Amino acid sequence: MKEEFVFTTNSPDETENLGKNVAKAPSPNTVIAFKGDLGAGKTCFVRGLAQGLGFFGETNSPTFSIVNEYIGGRLPLYHFDMYRIESWSDLYSIGFFDYLENGGVLAIEWSENIENALPEDAAEISITNESDNIRKITIRGLCVEDFSS
Ligand code: ADP
Ligand code: MG
Repeated sequence: MKEEFVFTTNSPDETENLGKNVAKAPSPNTVIAFKGDLGAGKTCFVRGLAQGLGFFGETNSPTFSIVNEYIGGRLPLYHFDMYRIESWSDLYSIGFFDYLENGGVLAIEWSENIENALPEDAAEISITNESDNIRKITIRGLCVEDFSS
C-alpha cells in the first residue's frame, strides 16, 4: 500500500501553496491522478504545482483543450482534463501514451475516467469539499513528508 499524507486547507491560496510544495516531489514521468468533484480544487492545486515547478506563465483549466502544457520549469507539466474522455481510442487520439514517456509530470483531472489506463505506480491526490472553504487533500504515492500544510 502507498504511503498516505492528509492535509486540510482553508482557502484556495492554501491549496495552491500546498501544490507549490508538492512540486518538489515529482521526477520525470511522474503521473498524478486527481480525484474529486467539480469545484473540489483540482485546478487550483495544479496551478500551485506549475508554479512550484518553476512555470510562471498562465495556467487554465484544460476543460476544452483536454491538455495544457506548462513548459520552462524544472520539469514540463502536462495538465489533463479527462472529463470527456470515454475510450482508449480517445486516449490515443490525444497522444496520452506519448505524454507518459515524455519525461514530464502528468497532472490528470477526472482520472476516474481513465482508471484502467493509468500506470500502476501513479500517485493519487484526492480532494474532498468538507464545507465552504475547507478541503481535505489526501496524497498517496508521492514523498511529501518534508513539509506541513
Ligand atoms: P476543480 O478543478 O476541482 O473543479 P477548481 O480548482 O476549478 O476545482 O475550483 C475550486 C473552487 O473552490 C474555486 O472556486 C475556489 O475558489 C473554491 N475554493 C474554496 N475553498 C477552497 C480551498 N480550500 N481549496 C481550493 N479551492 C477552494
Ligand atoms: Mg478543474
